[in-house]
Amino acid sequence: MANRRDAGPSTPLAQHGGPPAGGPPAAGRCPCLSGETYGRCCGAFHAGFAEGVWPATAEALMRSRFSAFAAGRPDYLLATWHASTRPAGLRLDDGVAWTGLEILRREAGGPFDADGLVEFAAHYRDDSGRGTQRETSRFVREGGRWYYLDGR
Ligand SMILES: [Zn+2]
Repeated sequence: MANRRDAGPSTPLAQHGGPPAGGPPAAGRCPCLSGETYGRCCGAFHAGFAEGVWPATAEALMRSRFSAFAAGRPDYLLATWHASTRPAGLRLDDGVAWTGLEILRREAGGPFDADGLVEFAAHYRDDSGRGTQRETSRFVREGGRWYYLDGR
């Protein structure tokens, strides 16, 4: 696992030693729209990944990464990014609000698979209105943990 300070000294996490204020409330709806609360869904991974709390499937990792964009958690995005493709740092665009996620297709990505694929549509709102980003992401499992590899 890479040093979590890869995100750089400018991230809220590095400055304050904890998640940024203003994230989703634990009892609120999870940004991934699973129907669960944030605290019982993606928030559990955002809070516990450093202690090894990790999604068991590629889809769950995908959801938790979408929620990390929505919640402003670049530390989680970097930690779940495969070392071979991980950027040195990451700054999230404050002008984009991620409003919803639809899983369109999945291949493999289970607890006993070595790789997996998830196609999704991520909905957002920015200065110019509403938009959708559609992507097929590839995931690999290493040391019992799923990582995001790349997307197109
Ligand atoms: Zn979730």
